[in-house]
Amino acid sequence: MKMEITQRIQQYVRDYQDNDHITSQWGVPLVGFADAHHPEMMALKHLISPAHVMPWDILADATLVIAYFVPFTRELAQTNVRSGTLSSPEWARTYEETNTMFEQLNHYLIEILTAQGYHAGISQEAATFDREKLISYWSQRHIARLAGLGTFGVNNMLITRVGCCGRYSTVVTNLDAAPDTPMREERCLYKRRGTCGICVTHCPSGALTLDGYDRKKCFQVCLQNAAVHNTFGSSYTKEDGTGTNSSGSEVCGKCVVNVPCAFSGLEPVRVKRTGNCIDEP
Ligand code: SF4
Ligand code: SF4
Repeated sequence: MKMEITQRIQQYVRDYQDNDHITSQWGVPLVGFADAHHPEMMALKHLISPAHVMPWDILADATLVIAYFVPFTRELAQTNVRSGTLSSPEWARTYEETNTMFEQLNHYLIEILTAQGYHAGISQEAATFDREKLISYWSQRHIARLAGLGTFGVNNMLITRVGCCGRYSTVVTNLDAAPDTPMREERCLYKRRGTCGICVTHCPSGALTLDGYDRKKCFQVCLQNAAVHNTFGSSYTKEDGTGTNSSGSEVCGKCVVNVPCAFSGLEPVRVKRTGNCIDEP
């Protein structure tokens, strides 16, 4: 069944980009299956917020969370390299089209699982975020990490074996199958050996540093983009579920393009962290 779900997701994305109203193209999705009761799942309440939703809040008999990563294309990334401080229109549009596809793909997955006698559901928190604290109470990326899809880079993105330039989604189910385990080897060059740091140099606001991430500064850049990219819709709903929470596309993505980890998972090896240089070509 894990293989079938993986193939269905990959086929769905392949077919979806043939729709006439879709301008985006995507790479082949990666799929992982997180243990709904993994000890590090509960730890998200400490790491992110006590309000972070747990899989069993969505399905009482949850066993797994299906997590998938849909890669963007190199061509799309190049538009966001060339567009200066703001995101490219293509980037903003693909962001919105990807989120819309996720809604439909997740609905399709729920139908498939239900037809086979399983339960499945999604977190409503995935469609919104706390605009004061600037956090989500359902972190797709943290759950994708538990599903073994990758490790976090300095840029706060999960770096998979095909890179970090793309987006994540999840579906909770009671499927009876063995979970995947989190990847333990670092894929970020800086975390691995203290080199690179290129993502930091791309950040237009100083939100990203080698020592941490200022989500308020980052969000200011996203708002500047939303003011300009306001014709592609807005994927996120208000926290009470009524309407969209922004008049534009709150995007940036400068720290996931033109970086060594954008389309390469890099060879995962365990090494001691050293130094603090920014020298990776
Ligand atoms: S650009 Fe370099 S430092 Fe930044 S996340 Fe990627 S590998 Fe890590
Ligand atoms: S998304 Fe943009 S503003 Fe936010 S950390 Fe990345 S480069 Fe900086």
